[in-house]
Amino acid sequence: MISLLTFCFPSSPPGGGGSANKFLNIAHRGASGHAPENTFAAFDKAVEMKADYFELDVQMSKDGHLVVIHDTIVDRTTDGTGEVKDLTLRELKRLDAGKWYGPEFAGERIPTLEEVLDRYRGKIGILIEIKEPDLYPGIEEKVAEALKERNMHRPKGGKVIVQSFGHDTTRNFHRILPSVPVGVLLSHADYPDGVTDEKLASFADYADYVNPSQLLVDEDLVRRIHTLGLQITPYTIRTQEDADRMITAG
Ligand code: CA
Repeated sequence: MISLLTFCFPSSPPGGGGSANKFLNIAHRGASGHAPENTFAAFDKAVEMKADYFELDVQMSKDGHLVVIHDTIVDRTTDGTGEVKDLTLRELKRLDAGKWYGPEFAGERIPTLEEVLDRYRGKIGILIEIKEPDLYPGIEEKVAEALKERNMHRPKGGKVIVQSFGHDTTRNFHRILPSVPVGVLLSHADYPDGVTDEKLASFADYADYVNPSQLLVDEDLVRRIHTLGLQITPYTIRTQEDADRMITAG
C-alpha cells in the first residue's frame, strides 16, 4: 500500500543554514495510507508514526457544526449519500466512515473539528484546511472560535496552521485571528505558468506558509518564497524520488 504521508520542507529559521533538520512530516488527512482518511484511526496512526503534524479538511453541516471530511459529498468515504451541507450533525454522525477502507475500521465516525482539537492538541501539530469556503459562509469565524475556546491561538495552546485554496478565506482568517499562522494553497491548475513575485508579495502580507502543489516546486520558487520570509510546505509527496526532488529544491 502506498503511504499518503506528505513530506514538507519549511525554510530554516533566521540565521539557520541547513534544511535537513527542519524537514517536517505532515500526515495527509492523517496517516491515510494506513487508516481511513480524516478519522481518529488515521490521526492516532499519525501520532504513533511520529508525524510532526497531521492535515485535515473541515466543512460545515446543515446545522452549522464543523465536520472533518474531504469531499463535499459523503459517498466516497462513508456508507451514506448526499452533500455534507445538506446533512445535520446527527445525520452525519450516524454514517460509518471506516468500513469502506477495511472491515477492521468499521464504526469510525466523521469527527467534528472540536473533537479533533480536544483529542490531539499539544500532542501533534494540526494543519486545518478550510474546504470549499464558498459553500460555507462564516466558516472562518467558526474555526477561529473553536481555536480560541481552547486557547489554541496562543503559543502554548499547541501547534496549529490554517490553510485554504480560497485566498479571500485565508486573508479573512488572518484578520480574525492574526496570531494563528496561515497557509495559502496553490494548485498547478490555477498557476500553470508559475507564481509571480507580485502574487507571492500579496501572500506575504498575511500568510506564513505558501503551500504549492509539488508540481510547481523548483529551486527558484523556493528561493523566492524564502526571500519574502515565508515558509513552504508543498503537497503531496508520495515517493522517495519526489522527496529527494523537494530536498534538492531547498
Ligand atoms: Ca486537504
